[in-house]
This record gives sequence, structure tokens and C-alpha cells, in this order.
Amino acid sequence: MALDFSFTEEQDLFRQTVREFIEEEVRPMLPRGFVEGHEFPWPIVRKFQKQGLMGVPIPREYGGAGMGEVGYCIMIEELAQLDASIATIVGAHTGICVQPLYLFGTEDQRAQFVKPLAEGKAIGAFALTEPQAGSDAANIQTQAVLDGDEYVLSGTKIFVTNGDVADYLMVSAVTDPALGARGGVTTFIVESKREGFKVANVEDKMGIRLSTTAEIHLDGVRVPKDNILGKVGEGFIAALTALDGGRIILGLGSLAGAHAILNRTLQYVKAREQFGEPLGKKQAIQFTLAEAGAEIWALRMACYKAAQDCEHYYEMVAQGKSVPRPFRDQVSRQSAMVKVLGSECAGRTIDKCMQVYGARGFIEGFDDLEVAFRDHIISEIYEGTNDVQRLIIGRELYKLGELPV
Ligand SMILES: Cc1cc2nc3c(=O)[nH]c(=O)nc-3n(C[C@H](O)[C@H](O)[C@H](O)COP(=O)(O)OP(=O)(O)OC[C@H]3O[C@@H](n4cnc5c(N)ncnc54)[C@H](O)[C@@H]3O)c2cc1C
Repeated sequence: MALDFSFTEEQDLFRQTVREFIEEEVRPMLPRGFVEGHEFPWPIVRKFQKQGLMGVPIPREYGGAGMGEVGYCIMIEELAQLDASIATIVGAHTGICVQPLYLFGTEDQRAQFVKPLAEGKAIGAFALTEPQAGSDAANIQTQAVLDGDEYVLSGTKIFVTNGDVADYLMVSAVTDPALGARGGVTTFIVESKREGFKVANVEDKMGIRLSTTAEIHLDGVRVPKDNILGKVGEGFIAALTALDGGRIILGLGSLAGAHAILNRTLQYVKAREQFGEPLGKKQAIQFTLAEAGAEIWALRMACYKAAQDCEHYYEMVAQGKSVPRPFRDQVSRQSAMVKVLGSECAGRTIDKCMQVYGARGFIEGFDDLEVAFRDHIISEIYEGTNDVQRLIIGRELYKLGELPV
């Protein structure tokens, strides 16, 4: 098969449209520097909703833009060059809430939940993490007890992106404590308007301050059996499938943030002169920026390759086809790889650029370096820490006894 690294005409046009929308309509609205308080940026999110950008990978008949996982990556890459918080809001909504609801939902659930979410008429969130269950997600304690035709959910979810504003949340809960993660966890679609649903706290964070992160209390929330996503006892399948795509988005999104900073630095070193010439003429500066450029260029392609495979995987899941285990493992492994490499490359690049800027890189608000520095750190932590991704990759490689190409 011929190798083809080019985007389709439709994808190029989509990138251009998203870029113009972001530059003309969103950039002027974005607060810069350290943002006080934790208010969900409704005016900006409403723009994305109106523009039809809250369900990019979802087929058009379910309210989305029908651009698949690669199209979704294109949109996030453009968005993350502008701001990591807004990319986080859209990513939590689209990638880890709407996408699994579409992939595993019944036709009724697609009509009831996916359509309004993808059309931008509602906000979604993904609630897996609990106080004692972070990396060890299998240790969740939220209980779902069957009572007639309803399940009664009780427990605490923490660090839920969009949790304070979401209309619908994908909530993992234990339905059979004896079975644990393998067969004992079920995913429920929970409407935040239900009695017993409470936003207990919104976190104060060092970065991505425009994105809100909430603690949710479920105090006897009753949801109908019809709100089960997929099958009883198979809750982790939906969560893990969502995270495969989510991690590619995180890898590419953090790279895109670093790419924007690198571009700004390339302009800065032309303008700033020391010892009678632009900084950019110094070989040491060129080496630093060359290394960053090479890493971003190579990893960006790796992200799109991972996205292309993930798109194919998601298409098979959506059509109810059985996915061969080696292919599923390949998608998960590639997602973990680009999440680790993309987020860590972003950290290195932003740090290098700050050094190239010298003192000005340390000044609040100067060329957005401080915001980028604060924002990038979380991408090494959420959706599974980078060491947990290394565990996934390492176990796979050990099992296979080789690195498949
Ligand atoms: C801003 C933000 C937004 C978030 N959004 C969401 C969301 O929308 N939905 C959601 O469900 N969650 C969300 N999270 C939670 C996030 O995914 C978890 O914080 C993350 O998975 C890590 O869990 P933890 O913080 O409990 O770390 P811990 O599990 O306590 O890990 C701490 C350290 O120990 C290491 N470690 C743990 N286990 C192992 C091991 N077996 N081997 C080696 N090292 C190990 C980790 O790598 C890490 O370095 C969010 C978190 C933040 C901060």
C-alpha cells in the first residue's frame, strides 16, 4: 500500500475554516495572563457551539460535523495553538463524553443525548476519578444499586472537567462489588438535573484556569436502566475506548501549544539583538530551536498516524464489528505513546523557549509564555499519568517480545 501523509481537500478546507474562526472570532475574546477566579468561559464556548464545533468526529445524522477522528485532531490542533483551557473543555466534552456515547449508545440514546451534545445544545463530561481511585481506576467505590427499573447511584467523583456545567455526564459505578473491574463496573449516563446530583466544589488550579474542574456528589441519584451505556458490567470498555482517542488529542494538543510558542520564539530571536546581531544568528540558539522543531515535526506525524488508526477502530466499533484484539492493542499502545511523547516534548520546548527569551520569558503575560508554562504541565498528568502510559506500553512490548511496526 502506498504511504500517503497528505490531508484530503475537505480536511484542508476544514482546517482553514477553523483557523479563520479562531483568529477572527475567538482570539479577541480570550483573556490573557493569569486569570483570576474560575468561571466557565460561556461566551467562548457558545461561539464553538454555534459554529458546530462541539461534535466534530460524530456523523452528521447525529448532530456532528462528520469529520472523524482525524478531522477532530485538526480542530484540536488549531484550537490548542490558541489556548489549552478551551481545548480541554472541548476535549472533555467531545472526546471522552460524546464520542463514547455515540460509539456505545443505542439509537434512542444517540437521539436523546448524542444529538444535543454534538449540536452544541448541551455540555458533556466524563466522571471516572474518585478520591481513592486515580491511576488505580478499578478501585472506584461509587455504587449503583438496582431498585425496580432504576439504579440508585451514590458516591463522590473528583476532578471532573466541565463537571459544574455539564448537562450529561458519563459516570462509572460499581454494579457488582464481587466482580471488581472485570465485570463489576457499569457506565451510566447521568443528567445533572436529577435529584441528589450536587456540584460540591470547583478546584483552584495552577494552569488551564479557564477550564473548570469539579467535585461531584451523587447522593442517591436515581437513573433509569435505559441510561446504561453499553452492557451492565462492561463499563470500563467504554471508558478505555474513549481514552484511546482522548490521549491522542492530548498528545497533539500539547504539541500544538508548544508549536505556537516555538513560532513566537522564532520571531522573537529575529527581533532581539545582543552583541550586535539578532539572537537567532547564534548557533547555540539555532541548535536549541532546531531540536524543538525536529521533535514537533516528527511527533505531529506520529499523532496523525495514531489518529488515523483510531478513526478506523472507532468506525468498526460504531458499526458493531468485532475488532481484532491485536488492532485494538495497537491503537491503545499508539495512543499511550503519543500522549507521553507529545506532552513531554511540549514541556521541553516551552522550557527551551523560555530560556531563549531570557528575562522576558519570566515576565507575567509576555508573549504568553507564562500561560503556556502553567498550562502544559497537566497534559503529563490527566487521562492517565505518563508513567501509567509507560506501564501500558511496557506491558504490551513485554507481551509481544518485539516492537511491531
Ligand atoms: C485539571 C484536571 C482535570 C481532570 N479531568 C478529569 C475528568 O474529566 N474526568 C476524570 O475522571 N478524571 C479527571 N482528572 C483526573 C486525572 O485523570 C487523574 O488525576 C490522573 O489519572 C492521575 O490520578 P491521581 O491524580 O490520583 O494520581 P495517583 O494515582 O495518586 O498517582 C500519583 C503518582 O503515582 C504514580 N503512580 C500511580 N500508580 C503507579 C504505578 N502502578 N506504577 C508507577 N507509578 C504509579 C503516578 O504516575 C503519579 O506520578 C483530572 C485531573 C485534573 C488535575
